[in-house]
Amino acid sequence: MEIIHVSAECYPVAKAGGLGDVVGALPKYQCKSGDIAKVIMPMYRTKFLYENDWTVDFKGSANLGNWYFDFTVIKEPTNKLGFDLFLIDINGLLDRQKIYGYDDDAERFTAFQIAVVSWISSWEHQPDVVHCHDHHTALIPFMMKYCYDFQHLSTVSTVVTIHNGQYQGWMGWDKSLYIPRWDLWKRGMLDWAGSINPLASGVKCADKVTTVSWSYMDELRENANGLEALFEFEKGKSVGILNGIDNEVWNPSTDTYIENRFTVKTVTKGKEQNKQILCNQFGLDITKPLFVFIGRLVGEKAADILPGAIRTAIHQTQGDACFLILGSGETSIEWELQQMTNEYKGIYNAYIGYNEQLSHLIYAGADFLLMPSRVEPCGLNQMYAMRYGTVPVVRSTGGLKDTVTDMGDTDGFGIRFNNATIDDLAYSIGRGVAVYQDKKHMEWMRKHMMQIDHSWESTVFEYRQVYQSLK
Ligand code: ADP
Repeated sequence: MEIIHVSAECYPVAKAGGLGDVVGALPKYQCKSGDIAKVIMPMYRTKFLYENDWTVDFKGSANLGNWYFDFTVIKEPTNKLGFDLFLIDINGLLDRQKIYGYDDDAERFTAFQIAVVSWISSWEHQPDVVHCHDHHTALIPFMMKYCYDFQHLSTVSTVVTIHNGQYQGWMGWDKSLYIPRWDLWKRGMLDWAGSINPLASGVKCADKVTTVSWSYMDELRENANGLEALFEFEKGKSVGILNGIDNEVWNPSTDTYIENRFTVKTVTKGKEQNKQILCNQFGLDITKPLFVFIGRLVGEKAADILPGAIRTAIHQTQGDACFLILGSGETSIEWELQQMTNEYKGIYNAYIGYNEQLSHLIYAGADFLLMPSRVEPCGLNQMYAMRYGTVPVVRSTGGLKDTVTDMGDTDGFGIRFNNATIDDLAYSIGRGVAVYQDKKHMEWMRKHMMQIDHSWESTVFEYRQVYQSLK
C-alpha cells in the first residue's frame, strides 16, 4: 500500500508540537511493517534542510488566484528517516524560519496544498491513500474531488487526521479564488458558518476522519470550536486511534540527549543522576520532589493556572516541592512564570523557550510531570514521561484520560483530577508530595509505567485497517 502523508510538520525536519512527532514516526513504522509511506511537507529554512543533501524530484507551476508561482519538489535521497521525505519549495512563501505565525499563513498553506496535489497528479501511477494532517492540509480532499484539474484523483482515498480541532484555518470567502477551478455547486463542502473552513471541509470531503485518541473523538461532538454538529453528523466515518510514541527516539537506555541513561532495572539511580544535573543547572533542591511542565504556554494547556497552582502548592506544602517549567507561548503567562523565579529561588525555575535537548533531560530527571490541559487531543508528553519513569499528573480529558490511571485505583500509576483549576492542580501536587515519601510505591510506579507499550508497532495496524476499509 502506498500512503502519502501531507503535513506542515515532521520531526526532525520541523516540529512545533505533537503533530511533528507523529508525522516523523508513523510513516517510519508503516514502512517497517511493509507499506510504502512517504511524507511531503513545506521547505522551511530549518537546520535539517541545510545539514542534508537534496535531489530535485519535480518542478512545476500553479496559480494562487491571480498569482502565478513556480514550485520545486526536493527529495532526501538516502531514506535517512526511514521513509521517503519530500519538501516543497515555493520561493518567498514557504522558505522561512518559522513554521506558522505569519500574516499570510492562509496563502502559504493553500499554495502548498495546490502544489502537493499538482505534484501527485503529475505521477504516472496513483497512490492508494493521501493522508492529510490538520487544517493546513485539509483542503486537499476537496481539491482532489471537486477541482476540475485534479478530477482524475477523485477516486484516490483520502484520510484526514485531527491532531488539534481548535485550529481550523478559517478564511473569508474572498479567498475562494485561491482554490483552483472548482465545481461551484460544491460551495457547501468548503463552507462553515459563512467562511471557508479548511478543517470542516476536510471532515466533510475525506473518506475517513481520525482523531489521535478515543476520548477526543467523543469530546469533539461536545466541544470542537463550533464544529460539534459536524462531528456528530460525520461520526459514521470517524474513528479514534491513539497515538504511539517513537520508542527509538524516546528511549531512556539509548537517548543520546542525556548523559546518564537507564533501564527499568536502573531507573532509581538513573533518574537521580539526571535530576542532579537538572538541579545543578537550575539551582533547585535535589532532596525535594521535582514537578515539571513542558509545553506550549497557552490556555488550551491550562498554562495560565500554573503560577497560581504552584504558589498555592508551595504554600500548602510549606515549600516541600520543586518546580521547573520549559515552554513558550502567551506573553503574559511567560512573564508571570519568569517573574516567579525571583520569588522562589531554590525551589522554582523556568526556561522560557523551545529546547528539544533540555526536554529529554527533564523527562529523565523529573519526578512528576504536570499536564492540567483544558483540551488534549492525545498528548505525547505524558507518554514520554511514563517511558522515562516520571509520574504524570493530568486532568482527565482526551488522550490523558485514555493513557493515565490514578494511583488510587487498582494498579494505578499516575495522578488524575477533573477540573483545570488552581485548587485541583495544587491538591494533586500535594498528593504527589505525599506519595514521594513512599519510596517503594514510587519505584513500583516508575517501573510499571516504563513497561507500558505505547509503541507505534501496535498502532500502525489500526491505520492499516482504516485504509483497507476504503478499498
Ligand atoms: P501539542 O498540543 O503541543 O502538540 P503534545 O503533547 O502532543 O502537545 O506534543 C508536544 C511535543 O512538543 C512534545 O514532544 C514535547 O516534548 C514538545 N515540546 C513542547 N514544548 C516544548 C519546549 N518548549 N521545548 C521542547 N519541547 C517542547
